[in-house]
Amino acid sequence: MPLLIRNGDIVTADARVRGDIYVESETITAIGSDLVVASGTEVIDASGKLVFPGFIDPHVHIYLPFMATFARDTHETASVAALVGGTTTFIEMCCPSRNDDALEGYRLWKAEAASGSACDYSFHMSVSKFTDVTEAQLREIVADGITSFKVFLAYKGAFGIDDGELYQTLMLARQLGVIVTAHCENAELVSRLQQRLIAEGKTGPEWHEPSRPESVEAEGTHRFTTFLENTGASGYVVHLSSEPALRAALAARARGVRVSIEAVIPHLVLDRTFAERSGIEGMKHVMSPPLRDRRNHAALWAALAEGAIDTVATDHCPFDVSQKRMGERSFVEIPNGIGGIEERVNLLYTHGVSRGRLDLQRFVDAASTRAAKLFGLFPRKGTIAVGSDADIVVYDPTYRGTLSAATQQSRNDYNGFEGMAIEGRPSLVTVRGCVQVRDGQFVGERTRGRFLRRTPNA
Ligand SMILES: [Zn+2]
Repeated sequence: MPLLIRNGDIVTADARVRGDIYVESETITAIGSDLVVASGTEVIDASGKLVFPGFIDPHVHIYLPFMATFARDTHETASVAALVGGTTTFIEMCCPSRNDDALEGYRLWKAEAASGSACDYSFHMSVSKFTDVTEAQLREIVADGITSFKVFLAYKGAFGIDDGELYQTLMLARQLGVIVTAHCENAELVSRLQQRLIAEGKTGPEWHEPSRPESVEAEGTHRFTTFLENTGASGYVVHLSSEPALRAALAARARGVRVSIEAVIPHLVLDRTFAERSGIEGMKHVMSPPLRDRRNHAALWAALAEGAIDTVATDHCPFDVSQKRMGERSFVEIPNGIGGIEERVNLLYTHGVSRGRLDLQRFVDAASTRAAKLFGLFPRKGTIAVGSDADIVVYDPTYRGTLSAATQQSRNDYNGFEGMAIEGRPSLVTVRGCVQVRDGQFVGERTRGRFLRRTPNA
């Protein structure tokens, strides 16, 4: 059924206009006023509401074997959570470990997602080793529509690659026009600092942050960007968490290195004191890079406001309480990760737009448009324009609510943002013209999501 979204304030990364949006089948076919519509069109009154392009979360983990367990969400639960929170497209990290075959891993991740996602999706392909078959396999994966790789400078022995493999990956990426996303922490230093702290009897979750201090992240960021500089590849630093790492990335950019920067919502609204809570409360807030000292917030928000930080993602990675308890005797054994796929947009709106830190254009850019451009989805995704997919969020800025595990869609049994207030939420969300969410409730098709084939643009 055609849709007419009437009289909303349509906000994109570069404009704000009052008007109507007409959607036929899966696409936006007209924008304006007094549009001629077919009989039987569903009319949605968006008066007093903001109308945004569907939001894009460029960094999530859904299917994820990690530290001998699996993250809790399925593609169904994560995608429903995403949609209720206004996210209509996610890019999942496809992360086979060093011991797995990359191509088999890719097929496995793709089959998992194809089993049922309510929103659209793509993958960043993790390169966790570089052997004789890697180049041919990566070429095949890129030909299938994947235009971004992921490398871990951290997680030695699991996903992490060495400098030689990093060089080979970047050289190939440059040739293929693929952007390389990177987790930037020095693996050797993390491992040594972990061992030292444990030997000193420092085993609680409050020692996770000191085991991967800001300087270790800054080193990883500097090294990654130096490799970009010397290979000519395009890069993207994921979940940058601290001011020293930010300075390293911006210094590289000032030298002409093609590097983009992602922040994730936990680093923008939580701080290290959450992981310093005793026992399980602290463990719930263990992620890497860790939640940092609050003094980093001002630098991250300022860089985000001016667009120096490009995107805001989540690193959605939910492990439940029983899984977190695997680390009761040592913080090293705590599965790393916090959920957030449902909370990201509302928290960014609340802490960004409502508090005057971000204007509406930068909010849309950071949470949708910039990711679409960087990862080859624009203008199909990331904007409201004639010809774009009809992924639309009608947002109610007058809504007031509280985040809680009791009301979340994720399968996890806790919420890392428990009790935090939100000022605004999506009242209606569409995926390619199909209404998936009304009044905060999922009402749509659980298998609507499609794999998004992309073409290299780096
Ligand atoms: Zn991640």
